[in-house]
Amino acid sequence: MDTGRTHSRRVAAGRKGADSTAARAAVPEHGDPSTRAEARVDLAAIRANVEAIRGRVGDAAVLAVVKADGYGHGLVPAARAAVDGGAGWLGVATIEEALALRAAGLTAPRILSWLAAPGERWQPALAAGVDVAAYSAWQLNEIAEAAEHAGATARVHLKIDSGLNRGGAGPKDWPALIDAALSAQAEGTVRVAGIWSHLACADELGHPSVDRQLAVFREAVAFAERVGVRPEVRHLANSAATLTRPDTHFDLVRPGLAVYGLSPVPEVSSPGELGLVPAMSVRARLALVKRVPAGEGVSYGHRYVTSTETTLGLVPLGYADGVPRAASNLGPVWAGGRRRTIAGTVCMDQFVLDLGDVATVAGDEVVLFGAGTSGEPTAQDWADATGTISWEIVTRIGARVPRHYVGGGPDGR
Ligand SMILES: *Cc1c(COP(=O)(O)O)cnc(C)c1O
Repeated sequence: MDTGRTHSRRVAAGRKGADSTAARAAVPEHGDPSTRAEARVDLAAIRANVEAIRGRVGDAAVLAVVKADGYGHGLVPAARAAVDGGAGWLGVATIEEALALRAAGLTAPRILSWLAAPGERWQPALAAGVDVAAYSAWQLNEIAEAAEHAGATARVHLKIDSGLNRGGAGPKDWPALIDAALSAQAEGTVRVAGIWSHLACADELGHPSVDRQLAVFREAVAFAERVGVRPEVRHLANSAATLTRPDTHFDLVRPGLAVYGLSPVPEVSSPGELGLVPAMSVRARLALVKRVPAGEGVSYGHRYVTSTETTLGLVPLGYADGVPRAASNLGPVWAGGRRRTIAGTVCMDQFVLDLGDVATVAGDEVVLFGAGTSGEPTAQDWADATGTISWEIVTRIGARVPRHYVGGGPDGR
């Protein structure tokens, strides 16, 4: 692997050579980073997606999952748009994410933070009115102790592991967790705000594990209620269950992916069929175009070879920006009026397109993915091309790619 230094030499050489004429007059202001590449996030789409979800869940409340920087869309703008769309709750993985939401002024919605390790910073979370999850009796005791020090009552969501075999107390350990919660509640350090679980295979329609998990969940809730726990909310459904299994809705649903307009069941339904609009598009401007002869190897390893004389376009995005290296020779890009496929290896900061004989100049826009309504590929197309899921495609768009918000939001509201 070489470094950026070599990349810039190559680009500089190209500029002096075949492409000296090609900077387009219409390129927006110099120095605006979004002229090179950007992730455009449509906040109106996020609002509308939450409204569409609300329309499908009856009386259940909506917790919009905004972990991982709002699945790459931006933690705070995504959260604000989701709240504007009617989400009464926000869900995050970590306490830091929850505190960032509170610090940004999101004081009204309930926030649930669900992933912690021993010795976590419980006190600031409790002081900020963040609901936390407890997976085990020892963890509940840690939370209760922090609440005592903070002089607060911790709002805790007790998690039953109903069969994902990831977080949560398994059925064997559930009575001990309930016991610990009841004692802490009697002491006033804890209030059981919720009982919840998470599904393993809701994105595979008809998968028998969903019914099994539902039965374990119901039994865990029934057990807790028999011994005197009165949770405010019971919740189980992720996006796939929210959209396909009304019997999993209970009091609160926890959609993530669907908030951002992507389909959690792409083999069955497109976003449009689910009433969703993809919120993110990733765009770039060609940094350089140049003619090369037939038979030229392109990019590292020469894993693409031109078949005729052609025009190559340099796209200033690479795997450091979240373009999977696995998209080498596979990733779809809208350029020059049609879909093309990445030519050769995706580098750290850039990749190349073979644009054929299309009239194109440096500064022309290309679209990696978007809503798909104007012919451009979608995040799902990228997931299919690279053997992953659309969750990963949007979430991994890197910090170097500026987010540009449209549809109201940080400035427009
Ligand atoms: C990420 C997550 C969700 C949201 O999942 P989607 O499939 O994106 O809807 C819901 N609940 C928990 C516990 C999660 O970790």
